[in-house]
Amino acid sequence: MESKNILIKDAVIISNEIKKGSLLIQDDKIGEISDKIAITDADEVINAEGKVLIPGLVNTHTHLSMTLMRGLADDIPLDRWLNNHIWPVEAELNGEYCYAGALLACAEMIKSGTTCFNDMYFFMDHVARAADEAGLRGILSHGMIDFGNEDKRNQEFKESIRIIKKCHNTGEGRIKVAFGPHSPYTCSQKLLEKVKIESAKYGVGIHIHVSETQKEVSDVLKAHGKRPFEYLDDIGFLGSEVSAAHAVWLSDSEIEIIKQRDVKISHNPSSNMKLSSGVSPVTELLRKGVCVSMGTDGSASNNNMDLLEEIKIGALLQKVTTMDPTVLTAEKVFKMVTIGGAESLGLEKQIGSIEVDKKADLALVDMRTPQLTPFRNPISHLVYSANGGNVDTVICNGEILMENRNLLRLDEAMVLEIAENASEELLSKS
Ligand SMILES: [Zn+2]
Repeated sequence: MESKNILIKDAVIISNEIKKGSLLIQDDKIGEISDKIAITDADEVINAEGKVLIPGLVNTHTHLSMTLMRGLADDIPLDRWLNNHIWPVEAELNGEYCYAGALLACAEMIKSGTTCFNDMYFFMDHVARAADEAGLRGILSHGMIDFGNEDKRNQEFKESIRIIKKCHNTGEGRIKVAFGPHSPYTCSQKLLEKVKIESAKYGVGIHIHVSETQKEVSDVLKAHGKRPFEYLDDIGFLGSEVSAAHAVWLSDSEIEIIKQRDVKISHNPSSNMKLSSGVSPVTELLRKGVCVSMGTDGSASNNNMDLLEEIKIGALLQKVTTMDPTVLTAEKVFKMVTIGGAESLGLEKQIGSIEVDKKADLALVDMRTPQLTPFRNPISHLVYSANGGNVDTVICNGEILMENRNLLRLDEAMVLEIAENASEELLSKS
């Protein structure tokens, strides 16, 4: 990457305190934050008058390539949704389709202010290619499923390790790889135990779905005599490197286990609501000091990747289920998609907040629009009034990916065409 200084001038900067100032990006990092930076220090100046500068948002649970299945099947129960619609299509996937869907997801994330994601799916080297071309930061994991079959298990490890060797720490360090055992009901104990050992060996994280539905809890209870988090703890699987998506159905003792083992939870309110999975006890998890971040899940069950929309839904859902409007405040929920997201991926020293020496992963939100006027409380506006369409400029790793809502690194028209064609071809096969 060529060395470049970018000055973001006169923004309202959302960091530990909220104040107006300027920020100088030096190469891939935040070099200086003050109101006295000279324009002559910069190769490029972004005038941010009337705009709010936020950390690039972090989406901790995605299946990027599922954008191709957006709008495919709505308003039906999870088992029918999977069996009759999603799995038949997934059986026809290949690397090119996954690349096309991931590229579309990257364009969508950039256009709504997301600079980092945690993805689990298939053909992940093709997803890595899309993320690298888009200029985004991401953690990728091959979704592992064995249903107790040894041959399948060996294949899953072979593929996961192939992806680690090929993609981990590529794209100027933006792309990392993790293990992705799908869930405790689709993976055998042997697979989960081996994931724990191999992830330590390769120094990578673990991304898993846990306790998404009541049926999952009763199935795990039937198979192992314990609830999902109790079972995972029993086999020594849990730890601070584990990012668990959903965590909807939890007993008090499971919440205690999650806290004790420092497991990171990704809350996916839209997906959980759309599939009638239930409501995660986020308020209780946060009260216990658990690290809870936010994910959009795949675009077949959300159906978009707009984190500014997701945090509003998440906050409102907690208020109505607890019948207490004081829970999950705007400040708390905004943290879940910034520093909380970074922490849940082990990246809190690099991203998630606007501080000198952190990576320059940033987004500017244009507040000069009827929807965000009068300009009063930026965090309140970001959570309750804004959506991804208000994001004006996005920078990741010191590179401008979008300016004035125009994608600079990706050709938006081309991305849409590639995705449209791939989706049509894929669905015609299944
Ligand atoms: Zn998922």
